[in-house]
This record gives sequence, structure tokens and C-alpha cells, in this order.
Amino acid sequence: MRVVRTRADLQRALAELRAGGALALVPTMGFLHEGHLALVDEAGRRAETVAASIFVNPLQFGPEEDFESYPRDEERDLELLRQRGTHLVFSPSVEEMYPVGPPRVTVDPGPMAEHLCGRFRPGHFGGVLTVVAKLFGLVRPDVAVFGRKDYQQLVLIRRMVADLEAGVEIVPVRIVREPDGLAMSSRNTYLSAAEREQALGLSRALGAVADAFEAGERDASLLRDRLVATVAAHGGLELQYAEIVDPDTLEAVDPVPAGSVAALAAFAGATRLIDNRVLA
Ligand code: AMP
Repeated sequence: MRVVRTRADLQRALAELRAGGALALVPTMGFLHEGHLALVDEAGRRAETVAASIFVNPLQFGPEEDFESYPRDEERDLELLRQRGTHLVFSPSVEEMYPVGPPRVTVDPGPMAEHLCGRFRPGHFGGVLTVVAKLFGLVRPDVAVFGRKDYQQLVLIRRMVADLEAGVEIVPVRIVREPDGLAMSSRNTYLSAAEREQALGLSRALGAVADAFEAGERDASLLRDRLVATVAAHGGLELQYAEIVDPDTLEAVDPVPAGSVAALAAFAGATRLIDNRVLA
């Protein structure tokens, strides 16, 4: 496994590796867990060469958010990536990624960023799409793999690729969960024991709404009430949003057709957690 930190070294490594066939990229912010590694495994099924990036992107953090304190452990990340058969890791500094400072031209995520997380994190998805566009430009992968855990991000990236002709195949991967249902996240490391217990309210609420949908309920406000009530009954979480949306446009749906996505964000203490589930 090669680890490169500069654009020049990246291009040199890519020139050799590309001869081996199709290349799949797995963009991450590091502090890897089994959710990330499931993306690496999928990348290996989709392409001969697997590249991962580790970059905590300042552009996608708000001024009050956790850019400085975001958990980092590159040595451990590299060991995990090596064990999973990654061929190339690009781990640039902020200066290497943004050599002339913050970009003046950025990707506008458009109206799909006005829903769900975008309502509460102004600028976040513009920052995400801009760094993903830069990574696509630098690595020029055939395939890029993203998790359904960050559902709005996945949908926006897919749409950016279609609307701006990025020429990359976007492959989604299911949400990887802890045995008790909590979606894996690098930010779970922030949780105290009590908050870890409270955090289960998210997956419980999604389970409850999936049960109601399966039992035939299609009324959006009743299904949404089910989400909100389950979070409240579980206790401890401060709900930020609970929505049921179209899987492609992210607009609210009513009545709720199969394939819609129930999504929520909530704070366990100071830690913001997100989760979602397809209703089928
Ligand atoms: P991050 O390091 O949080 O930016 O995540 C990098 C990639 O891993 C994104 O495509 C995420 O959606 C994906 N990811 C993070 N957590 C999970 C999870 N629990 N299951 C599946 N994919 C995940």
C-alpha cells in the first residue's frame, strides 16, 4: 500500500496503478470504522485498484462545528486500510488540498441542500461537493464509493456527477451498524456511556416508522409523529429534524410511497448524530 501526501506523488502513483485496470476511490475523513471499511470492500469488488483518501475538509465545517477536535488517528487508519487490501492512500494536508487558500469557485448544491441536514448546516454541502469534485479531478477514478449513512450527501454527489458530467460511477453502500443498531460514525467516539444509550433512540425510531409503514400506514404526518414520539419516549435526545422524503429529490412526500427515506438528526449531549432508513 502506497501512502502519498502531495499531488505530485499522487500523480506518480496513479500513473503506475492505472495500468492495472479500473480504479475505485473511497473518500473519507479518517478515524475509520467498519462502515468505512465496507466501502473499501465494495471498492475492491468494483475495480482492480482501490484508492482511499483521508482528509478532514475544513470547507464543510461550520464555525461552531468540530473541525479542530474531529478525531484523527492516521496510523491506525493506515493499518486498517492495509489489512483490507487498499492499494493507494491519499492523505494531504489542508495546504496541499487548497494551495492558494479557500477556493473562490465552489460547487453550489442547489435546492436539494435546503432539506434535511442542509437546513441546519449552511455551507456544509457546498464544502462537501467542492472537495469531492477536487478529489475526482485529482484522482480521476472510474468508480467512487459512498455510504448511505450520509444519505443527503450521497444523493447530492450522484446529482453533481449527473448534472456536471463528472464521468464517475457512484456506488452506494448500506449503513453499517453496531450490534444494537447504532449507525457507526467517527463521531460516536464523543459519546459518554449515557449518551451512547440515548443515541439508540435514532435507530429505534427508524425501526418504529418502518414497522408502521409495513403495517400499511402511508400518511406522512402520522409516520413522522411516530418518529418524533419514539425519539421522545426513548429519552435524552434533542431532535433536530425528522422527515420522510423522496429518495431522489429529498422533498417531503405525502402520502408516502415505497422507497421513501425516513431521516433524522438529533443531539446526544453536544454530539450531532444522523440516521436514515428506506421504507419498503
Ligand atoms: P466520513 O469519514 O464520515 O466523511 O465518511 C466517509 C464515507 O464513509 C462516507 O461515504 C460515509 O457515508 C461513509 N460511512 C460513514 N459511516 C458509515 C456507516 N456506518 N455505514 C456506511 N457508510 C458509512
